[in-house]
Order: sequence, then structure tokens, then C-alpha cells
Amino acid sequence: MALLEEQAEHKEGMFRAITDQSTEGITLADTAGNYTFVNPAFCSMMGYSEPELLQMSVFDMKAPEQDHTSFDRTKSSREGLSVEVLLQRKDGSVFVSEVIGQNVIINGSAQVLGTVRDISDYVKTEGKIRTLSQAVEQSPVSIMILSVAGVIKYVNRAFERITGYKLAEVEHENIDVLIPDGLLEDFQGGLARSMEKGEIWEGEMLIRKKAGESFWEYAHFSPVRDEYNKIIHYLGVKEDISLRKEHEEKILHQAHFDVLTNLPNRFLSLDRLSHMLSEAVRNNESAALLFIDLDDFKKVNDSLGHEMGDKLLIEAAARLKSEVREGDTVGRLGGDEFIVLLGGLQNPTNAQLTAENLLGRFRDAFRVDGRELMMTATVGIAVYPGDGDSASELLRSADAAMYHAKELGRNTYSFFTEDMNKQVTRRLSLEEQIHGALDRGEFEVIYQPQVDVGSSQIIGVEALLRWHNPALGNVPPDEFIPVAEQTGLIVSIGQFVLAEALRNAAYWQEHFSREFRMAVNFSPRQFRDPNLVAFIKRTVDEYGLSGKTLELEITEGVLMSGQRYIYDIFEALKGLGVCISMDDFGTGYSSLSYLRNYSFDLLKIDRSFISDITVDPADRELIKAAVAMAHSLHLKVVAEGVETEAQLEYLKELRCDYAQGYLFGKPMAVDDLTQLLMLNKSM
Ligand code: C2E
Ligand code: MG
Ligand code: MG
Repeated sequence: MALLEEQAEHKEGMFRAITDQSTEGITLADTAGNYTFVNPAFCSMMGYSEPELLQMSVFDMKAPEQDHTSFDRTKSSREGLSVEVLLQRKDGSVFVSEVIGQNVIINGSAQVLGTVRDISDYVKTEGKIRTLSQAVEQSPVSIMILSVAGVIKYVNRAFERITGYKLAEVEHENIDVLIPDGLLEDFQGGLARSMEKGEIWEGEMLIRKKAGESFWEYAHFSPVRDEYNKIIHYLGVKEDISLRKEHEEKILHQAHFDVLTNLPNRFLSLDRLSHMLSEAVRNNESAALLFIDLDDFKKVNDSLGHEMGDKLLIEAAARLKSEVREGDTVGRLGGDEFIVLLGGLQNPTNAQLTAENLLGRFRDAFRVDGRELMMTATVGIAVYPGDGDSASELLRSADAAMYHAKELGRNTYSFFTEDMNKQVTRRLSLEEQIHGALDRGEFEVIYQPQVDVGSSQIIGVEALLRWHNPALGNVPPDEFIPVAEQTGLIVSIGQFVLAEALRNAAYWQEHFSREFRMAVNFSPRQFRDPNLVAFIKRTVDEYGLSGKTLELEITEGVLMSGQRYIYDIFEALKGLGVCISMDDFGTGYSSLSYLRNYSFDLLKIDRSFISDITVDPADRELIKAAVAMAHSLHLKVVAEGVETEAQLEYLKELRCDYAQGYLFGKPMAVDDLTQLLMLNKSM
């Protein structure tokens, strides 16, 4: 065989191998479109055999619907024509193909070389992608695609609408541009780190809008991988949660701030106090706690109404706040109690200066609802180190200092001192010991006679409580009654006193006089006991007494709240025939309106007036007026603390009805009183 022939045969073999094994259809057609060559891939693509196809033309392959489809995908180039056409197989099925036709010269004649590819799968995928990208584009949730390095590749319309940034403005920018200043570090520790590690990240993030303000989003970022499982992008889906955040913040705010004044509430104030202390310890500095209590605020509230009281508190809070430095806390502990925290003090005397300034802020009248009101405050100061190492100790010290300042006459301030320290310690042990004292039988009721000024006959007694405690000794009632009040123990202790007193009253009535009367002291807290009246009635009945044997001694403190239930209790007690006396008259506000509005039977003039009755003409005039006024309201008058005959003479002159005091007998134990009554009887 000639060399040329051999070469031609070799080429033919190569051509065959290529066309036979190609996955693309390869065809040759003459200028009329009749196939002159088809490869096996084309045959299997169309479902015809080679001889069949060689009898057919390119036009036989076109699907009928092709004529209605525009050739918009036709691309013409120098190499030829690339078209997407619908072809129909022998079995009738239709598919999308990409056909590239090229004019070639083969063996001197013009032919068209066609390369045919089945692109149905590709077209399907492309359709899907188009639908998907439309969904992404139009999704109401904000969507973004980032590069692995965090560069923004795409944002959808929701993102544009929410943030105010157009895609073109953020494309190619790092996502960092969306993070508000100061939060970048957090962000880099969170999302950015997850991205580095190829992990999913989800959480809340603060995003800065183009206009500058920030808002909260809940974001989910997940990696997008290619077919080799390599991360190529990050897809972020984000939801605006500003409203929820706002709501959450509101709730959080309410838990920490006082609704009325918007100052830190008790909880947050004490938390800040603890913080201030740890700072002071760490930096070896001083810090001060100012405890502020408005003077007579309760009275304002009671007389002018709570609405007015609220307005005053708001104004007072504003004044306090205006007086301290930016970083210092002013908090409301509750009611009319505020605290001011002064951290990082160079010198404790700075606290004094602040206290003076705070009091100064109250010098101007408060204008509320067109009224002008004067209101003052009292301040207690506790300093770290010295007055306490913990928040609660410091608070207790400041509170004690405040009480001391109140005693000094209000509208002033006082530092905590060693003396107060002793008082605080004493108070704590009282609180500790008074629990269980009743069960341990440490209380005793003793009795002080009350006499008729005209006849000097004993007409009854006042029951007075004594506490004998092994650790504290004999504690005077002026000291332990307030503690019993505050702990609420006064209710059960008071029931003990009443039962004891009435039991003995029954005995003395039986042995001495049916008219014998028993006066028992009641404190404000006992009036809040819903069972008070029922208990009194039961006890009176139990000892076979009549209601008028009992005389309830109350102070103005009971009436101060002015609440309806006090009237109701008064009425119920009147119904039982019980007498009610106003104790310690002349010491408090001695409001005459109380005497008019409540049906009292007796007025007890405080012993501080009686003691000076023989020396101070003013006191004498005062008592004279009080007696006259009481009588005009049909009240009997009892003089307390009568110690001398001279005092008794004056009281007779002033037409006082009854008297009580050391002159007739000190408070004494049951048996001693029985003895005294026997003597009195035989007189
Ligand atoms: P109060 O009700 O004004 O009782 C009169 C106080 O004056 C008694 O003090 C009594 O011992 C004292 N006293 C009486 N006569 C004289 C006198 O001639 N000269 C002097 N210097 N003092 C005299 P006490 O027993 O220490 O009681 C103090 C207060 O404690 C009472 O004042 C009363 O408010 C309260 N208290 C006593 N027992 C009870 C009780 O059972 N329940 C309640 N809630 N309070 C009580
Ligand atoms: Mg009394
Ligand atoms: Mg009294």
C-alpha cells in the first residue's frame, strides 16, 4: 500500500474514533440539509439508526412546536450559527438542543458541520434558578450573599428597602460596613469567626442603616458549597426583630426602673451600690451613700391626694438628679426614699457638700397644679470605708444616719457615727430576740391605776407591756414596740396583751367594782389586722365582760393613713360599746380634725405638758384649752404622768376628769394592783 493511502487510512481511523466516541452529536449535511454523515451519539440522541438518518434531512428533526418558538437564542458568529432548537426523536418525544452549524468544504463540496447537544437538563436547571432568584429577589426577608472573606456579593430588595443601601453601594464592601461603631469587636468574635471556621452562625445582630440609625436583626448565615464541597459563599437570611427587641428592652427597663420617676428602682439601685463598692475596693477609693427621705411626705400624700403626691415625687426626683454628676446614681428605693451614690470620692467631705446642695435644691417651693408647696428632705450619709463593707451594711448605716437627722429636726443631714453603730447593733439584736419571745413567755402585762380627779378613787387601769429577755435584760416598750410593729409581731403580741388584760379585768370587776375599766394600747399595725374586731369581741365575750369595760388607746399614727377601713373599725368597736381614747395628745400633729371626724370618748393629755403645769403658764393655758375643747366635743380628759399633789390641784381646777401617774401608783404587777385595790376600797 502506498504511503499516502496508508496515511489517509490512519486519518480516517482517527476521525472514526473521534466521531464514534464523542458524546455530542456530530452531523454533516449538504446545502439542502440532507444528512451525509451522522455519528452514533447523534443516532442515540434521536433514536434513529444511521441508515435511517442518512435518508433524512435536518428539517425532519425539528419538533412541530419549534415553528412557534422564536429563535431568540440564535447567535451568529464567524464560525457559524449557534441555535437552541426543539428536536423530536423517533418516538415522538421532544427535547431542547443546542446546535452549532458551521459551513465547511469537504472534498470540494460545501457542507454544514453540525454539533448537537441535548441541553434539556441545563435549561431545566436554569429555569429553576430563574424562579429561585426571583423568589430571593422578591422575598420580604432580607437576604445577602457574602464571599468567604465577608465581602458582600449580593443583597436582595428587602435588604435594600430595610437598610436604605442599594446593591451597588454595598457590593464589594465588607459586611463590616453594616456593623455600628463599637460593636465590631463583638461581631468579629461571632459571625466572622464562624465564617472562618466554615460553621453556621445564627443570632441577633445590630445593623446600621445607611441613614445612620441601628436596628436589630435575627440573622442566619450558612455556608454555600460547590460540588467539591468547598465553601464558595455565605448565605445570610435576616429578619428585622426591632419590635421584639424594643418590647424586650421595655420589659427589662420596667424591671430596673421606677415607673413614676424613671429612676433606677430598688433592685437596680442596690445592684449599682454593690458595683460602686467593688470599684472602691479595687481602686482603693472612698465612696458614699446618701439616704434621702422627704419630710412629712405622708402627710402631703394623705391631705392632698396620691396624684399630687406622685407629681411631687417626680419633681423631687428631677431636682435630686440635677444635683449630681453624670455618672452618679440617683435611685428610688420606694415611697419617698431615695439614694444617691457617690463613687470615686477623694474626700468624704465631698459627700457633705453634695448633701448640702441636695437640701438646697428643696429650698424653692414646688409648683404642682398651680399650687406652691414647700417640701424638705432629710439626708443620712454612710461612707466606705468605715461605715460598712457590704451594700446592705452601708444602706443600714445611711438609714440610721437619716433617722438620726430626722430626730435632729429634719431638713438636715447627718453622717453615720459610732453611736449610731451601737444603735444599729442593738436594733438587730432586738429584732433577733423578739422572734419567739411570746412563746418563751418573756412578756408580762403590768397595770397602772387611773383615778377620778374629783374623788381620787381608782376607776380602772392602763395595761402596759414589759419584756424580760435573758440576753437583753428588761427592754422598755418605747424600744421594742416599734420593732414588734415593723416585724408584724405586734399583732400576736397585742392579742396576748388584750387577753391578759381582760382576764384580769374580769377578776377585778368581780372582786372590787363592776365599773372597773381596762385601757389597752393599740398600735397602727394592729388596725391592719382584718380579725381585730372579731378577736376583741370574742375575748370580751370569753371573760363575760361588756364592751364598755375596754378602752382602746390609740395615737394619731393609726389615723394618719385616713383610710376607709379605720372608720369601719371605729364604727364596729362603737357597736360593741368599746371606748376609744386618743393617747399622747399634744405630741404629734394633734390635729383637731381627727377628734371631730372620729368618735373618740377620751383624750389623754401627754405627760410632757403635765410635768410643767405648775411652772409654765403656757402649758397651763394649753391644757385649759384642750380640756374645754374636749368637753365641748363630749370627750372626757385623762391627764398622764401626774407625779405631785400640786399638779393634781391644778388638774382639779382645770376640771380634768381622770388622772394617771406615779402619784397614784407606778405600773405594777397583777398582785400588787390587787393589793392596792383592796387598800383603795377600805379607804
Ligand atoms: P403610754 O401609752 O403613753 O403609756 C404611759 C407611759 O407613761 C408608760 O410608759 C408609763 O409607765 C409612763 N408613766 C405613767 N405615769 C408616769 C409618771 O408619773 N411619770 C413618768 N415619768 N412616766 C409615767 P411605758 O410603760 O414605758 O410605756 C411606754 C409606751 O409604750 C406607752 O406609752 C405606749 O405607747 C407603749 N406601750 C406600752 N404597752 C403597750 C402595749 O401593750 N401595746 C402597745 N401597742 N403599746 C404599748
Ligand atoms: Mg397609753
Ligand atoms: Mg400616753
